[in-house]
Amino acid sequence: MENDGAKAPVFVVSANLLGLARWLRFLGFSTEIRTDPGKITVFLREHPEAIFLSAGKKQFEHVDTSQSYLLHSNFIEDQLQELNSAFEIFRRMNLLSRCSLCNVPIEPVSKADIKQQVPERVWQSFDQFWRCSRCRRIYWEGGHIERLKEKLRRLGVPVG
Ligand SMILES: [Zn+2]
Repeated sequence: MENDGAKAPVFVVSANLLGLARWLRFLGFSTEIRTDPGKITVFLREHPEAIFLSAGKKQFEHVDTSQSYLLHSNFIEDQLQELNSAFEIFRRMNLLSRCSLCNVPIEPVSKADIKQQVPERVWQSFDQFWRCSRCRRIYWEGGHIERLKEKLRRLGVPVG
């Protein structure tokens, strides 16, 4: 899979798009969540490359249109398709590269280092692990990741 991280879009969403934010992070895109419109404006000013995603016209009105994108659907699957049309997110995604809770990159960690931190069965079954430097959460290609990948396949996204 192509890793185009350097040019990948940075997103900011309001709290009503929390589910979409988690998905975008899972796909590897930096996605900030800001609850009040003033903070979204500040974030966009400080990050000229960032795009504000909105599912409602009302929030959208506060923001410079060159830095915002209005989603038409309320369903995450459709929203991902819309974002793919606009930003080619499926081509540019980088799975298992970002913590879906903290929005920071996760780093490969040696299997020996995390033996005490994952269930024995998981430690036995997997060889590659990643850790979030902020919340210390451990990631591996387990059932949760498989289910997310299965959803992507159903969207027609070629994932390994
Ligand atoms: Zn984290």
